[in-house]
Amino acid sequence: MKKLMAANWKMYKTRAEAKATAEDFINRIDGKLPADREVLIAAPYTALESVGSVLEGKPDSYLCAENLYPAEEGAFTGEISPAMLKDVGCSYSLAGHSERRHIMGETDQMVGDKVAFGLKNGLSMILCIGETIEQRKAGEVQKIIDQQLEAGLKNIPADFAPETVVVAYEPVWAIGTGEVAGEEEIVEAHGFVRKMLKNIFPEKANEIRILYGGSVKPANCAQIIALDNVDGVLVGGASLDGESFSQIALA
Ligand code: PEP
Repeated sequence: MKKLMAANWKMYKTRAEAKATAEDFINRIDGKLPADREVLIAAPYTALESVGSVLEGKPDSYLCAENLYPAEEGAFTGEISPAMLKDVGCSYSLAGHSERRHIMGETDQMVGDKVAFGLKNGLSMILCIGETIEQRKAGEVQKIIDQQLEAGLKNIPADFAPETVVVAYEPVWAIGTGEVAGEEEIVEAHGFVRKMLKNIFPEKANEIRILYGGSVKPANCAQIIALDNVDGVLVGGASLDGESFSQIALA
């Protein structure tokens, strides 16, 4: 199973900025990416084509959307379908990033609809889950992981290929705060995610990648990806710069 080193650019970068960063990143990892790694960039819709033009043909490099709408087409002003994302070169999409859950009010059910619809329409899906600080303090980490996983994977096709489903554990209190989760917290949460996956998909759970996200940087990435059940990282702030994200991808 290859480790997935994923960037999430959120609502940053014009087309030209995105292209320049992607080129800088790709040049820095060219010929150096270990055989057991893949890289992925999730970019704003408007920058997907320019980032895709840089990633196209590069080994183990994937283009990802940050969101999708679970319908083929229709009267959904402002939304984007999986077919449109594939048309622009995406092979992946995120679903349920904490900023979408907490700022846009996406429910567990909505996130599950996105994961299922994306998979059914040929995208690989990265389901983001994670607890808030209040939920952690209330001892609800496992309850939240359980709920978000259960709802997030509820209606996916029974014959899904395990490499097309990725879970990103991102404690909300560690996203964009500089406060990375401790090693014990990461190992405990990822172990629990693996256990829940085994309950839901006994045959495939070991091949589903579990990424950690939350203030990953060049300085802490090597330790994090060496932990049990950590199959890659999802990186926000530190992925916006080609040099810093290349150090993470090669860590
Ligand atoms: C993210 O956006 O998914 C994320 C983990 O952000 P950051 O790395 O900035 O904490």
